Amino acid sequence: MDRIKLGERYFSPYLSAAEIDSTIDAIAARINADYADSKSLLFLSVMNGAFMFTADLVRKITVPSTVSFIKVSSYEGLSSRGEISMKLPLSCDIEGCDVIILDEIVETGLTVDYLFDYLEPRNPASIAVSTLLYKKGMHKGRHEIKYPGIVMQENLFVVGYGLDYDEKGRTLKDIYILSED
Ligand code: 5GP
Ligand code: MG
Repeated sequence: MDRIKLGERYFSPYLSAAEIDSTIDAIAARINADYADSKSLLFLSVMNGAFMFTADLVRKITVPSTVSFIKVSSYEGLSSRGEISMKLPLSCDIEGCDVIILDEIVETGLTVDYLFDYLEPRNPASIAVSTLLYKKGMHKGRHEIKYPGIVMQENLFVVGYGLDYDEKGRTLKDIYILSED
């Protein structure tokens, strides 16, 4: 993996596709064990960023499950605006379902809190969260991140594998970090 340029900024290799794959193997193994008896497992993928993580994770799930999508937005450029808005609401009934929210990265946890507040009144049986990357040091949310892939340093900005820098870099198969030079 080489350094890449997106817009005017440079990004250095951080996680290879192979490392991402083995991280997702470990998450899937935990979910397959914990939800082995679930009758109504629903993965709720947070667009746009979680689309690759979702596609790769659900194919490793052996428990019967369904997948649905929701779109919220909080980020512009390199930092969160701290204000979340619903861009595409839920399109299915989640009553009685075991919902697992899939996000590609959790930072403050405000998006996750917003989603819990949105989902809880719809009476799911349970709600848990899985994220590929977790900036645990910046988390100030009210809800536990039960299935994190990699706990990462919080002062890094990453792109690739669904994560964008102003819509650039989202389709890369590996993950890169912003480098200052
Ligand atoms: P939170 O609400 O947990 O603070 O932020 C969650 C959202 O912020 C993620 O779904 C993602 O869209 C965005 N985000 C947080 N950190 C990064 C990062 O390092 N790179 C990119 N591209 N997005 C990030
Ligand atoms: Mg996201």
